[in-house]
Amino acid sequence: MADEPRLYRPRDRAVPHPGDRDLTAALNPDQARAVTFGDAPLLVIAGAGTGKTRTLIHRVAGLIERGVAADRILLLTFTRRAAAEMLARAERLVGSASARVHGGTFHSVGHRLLRQFGAAAGLPADFTIMDQGDAQDLMQLGRGALGLAKSNKRFPKTETLHWLYSRHINTELPLDELLHRDTPQFLEYQEQITALFADYTLRKQERNLVDYDDLLLFWALMLEASPSLQARIAGLYDHVLVDEYQDTNLLQARILRGMCTAHRKLTVVGDDAQSIYAFRGAHFRNILDFPRHFPGATMITLAQNYRSTQPILDLSNVVISRAEERYTKDLFTKREGGERPWLVTAKDEAQQTRFVADRVLQLYESGVPLHDMAVLFRAGYMSADLEIELANRKIPFEKWGGLKFLEAAHVKDVLAFLRVSENPRDEVSWYRILMLLPGIGDSTARTMMAAMQERSWDPDAFTHLLTPPKAREAHRSLAHLLRQLRGIGAADASGGAKVASDITAVRALYDAILTEKYDRPEARLADLDQLRTIATGYPSRTTFLAALALDPPSGTQDLAGGSESENDTLVLSTVHSAKGKEWKAVFVIWAVDGWFPASRSIEDPDELEEERRLMYVALTRAKDELAVVYPMQVYGSKRSADYSFDQLSRFLDRGVRATMQRVVVEDTEAAVPAPAATAPEIDLRALMRGRFGGTS
Ligand code: ATP
Ligand code: MG
Repeated sequence: MADEPRLYRPRDRAVPHPGDRDLTAALNPDQARAVTFGDAPLLVIAGAGTGKTRTLIHRVAGLIERGVAADRILLLTFTRRAAAEMLARAERLVGSASARVHGGTFHSVGHRLLRQFGAAAGLPADFTIMDQGDAQDLMQLGRGALGLAKSNKRFPKTETLHWLYSRHINTELPLDELLHRDTPQFLEYQEQITALFADYTLRKQERNLVDYDDLLLFWALMLEASPSLQARIAGLYDHVLVDEYQDTNLLQARILRGMCTAHRKLTVVGDDAQSIYAFRGAHFRNILDFPRHFPGATMITLAQNYRSTQPILDLSNVVISRAEERYTKDLFTKREGGERPWLVTAKDEAQQTRFVADRVLQLYESGVPLHDMAVLFRAGYMSADLEIELANRKIPFEKWGGLKFLEAAHVKDVLAFLRVSENPRDEVSWYRILMLLPGIGDSTARTMMAAMQERSWDPDAFTHLLTPPKAREAHRSLAHLLRQLRGIGAADASGGAKVASDITAVRALYDAILTEKYDRPEARLADLDQLRTIATGYPSRTTFLAALALDPPSGTQDLAGGSESENDTLVLSTVHSAKGKEWKAVFVIWAVDGWFPASRSIEDPDELEEERRLMYVALTRAKDELAVVYPMQVYGSKRSADYSFDQLSRFLDRGVRATMQRVVVEDTEAAVPAPAATAPEIDLRALMRGRFGGTS
């Protein structure tokens, strides 16, 4: 019968005959060597698309097959998503055992270890993690306390101070050297900056707060300062593997040394030409120095690219050949055919947008699924126009990177309430929520926090604080809410339901504030609905808050727990967030000097080199089709007086262009027929007149 349901058999999770399978069959000899390599430090250094990640996945699978217990393998990746994808692929090779491999980012693993071993190192287990914004807020509070807030216009901004602090931690450069190199104009304030950093460090300790950099720093220190702690922590894993090693920094190298000195079973893979995180303290020298950091390391290089057609590689090779310094060599492929990449000249942004949308549909109609296409750009805001057009045309898309859901003020507001209930010493969150309340301003908020500090941040004390009359109402409702959040007099709920009901309780107070604050609060209220939905997936408030702070989702799909493969959606991504990925067709938009490379990098040779590597990363994401789009006219707002922004990106010089084909978008607007000169059906101007009660 035609409508007899077909039986769908879920796939077998265990591999039928473990051991029968040759894990190296689908690899070339160099990749296979890396997969079967023994137990000493191993560095695989190779260009884009040469199968580094694939090799690492097979190595994980191979270790499991060799009998290494899966939960004694640590796989460090750049995002949570990457770890999950790699382990899913390992599962296809060796079955579900691979799910027990510990995978994640350095920060998330550092966090797990700190919760587990922090107590032995003098760190209370219930610390709160601050994201970058929180860390800046805390530093700002310190500035106020030290009287450095308003004193001098030439004193660095808080954002700069935090950046300096973070760089100091991650690069291990002494502060004076850093100041000398990066911000000599602030050298005269070295003393004050040092005092501020000391205050910041103490403030974090007193408030039980931990910033991102601490997660790495404390991990390194636990390994280095106590042989017995080191034995316990390093003893958790027999093998450590790291993807994208070119984007790690010295602190991370120190961590790996601490984790692997006993057994030396460390495998790292990476490409110096793709190092794009110097602003976080990463340095491509780190990968070149691997043999020095881990003496006796074996190095394997790979040259064959399996991702892209030769014309795409020709272009990428020329772009990166202009780099000042580079180790990995030119790429080649055995893939035949393929068109030269397009260099598309558009009149302006509108035409660029139209070109991308049209071409996406054209490829889609020729059989390329939407999720096999991506549009890449230098910075998150550059896709705004395209997003509107895609929405209008009902082309589904998802956006990676540059999306600041968790940095949105209203989301941070709600989380701040949860955070003070979790950690009553969280000064940053106290200040945030106090400042939200009607009748409480900066000085009342600071007075209240000082009073709380005197009472050792005892949550019960808050209810009894004296407040000025105009703040009394707000104080009462906040005290009531905080008692509720601490579970006093509340109905029993646990896990995700509890976190979700906490959010509901917060919103009983907060929604009114939000509605008051914004003219059009609907989208923000919807964000909070979404936050509540996400919360149900977490077993406790602690895990929920930690997960949000640690692995800031790179897109809304991440938050909802979906993935790009489930829905057929076009990917829009910053180049940074596209690292390690590949698509059949890739569009790189805004190839304009001052946009890509970004204008602020143009005067600094190191930063310009990093922008070049970023362009290389963008181009090497494409498998079959690549189009680089260049709008010739850039309108006002982003134009700076110093540069002319309507120049083609300097990375696409004449020699580079020789590997591309020029495409000019036809100006269809000019072809639009002129309006016929007949009598108008309505008179718009007449309709508008008198609309606001005017008489004429
Ligand atoms: P990137 O530098 O961008 O991170 P990579 O070196 O990690 O790239 P992979 O992503 O592992 O490269 O591989 C690129 C593509 O080539 C993938 O689609 C992968 O499956 C394929 N590939 C790698 N090695 C082989 C091989 N030996 N045979 C067939 N396909 C391969
Ligand atoms: Mg990779």
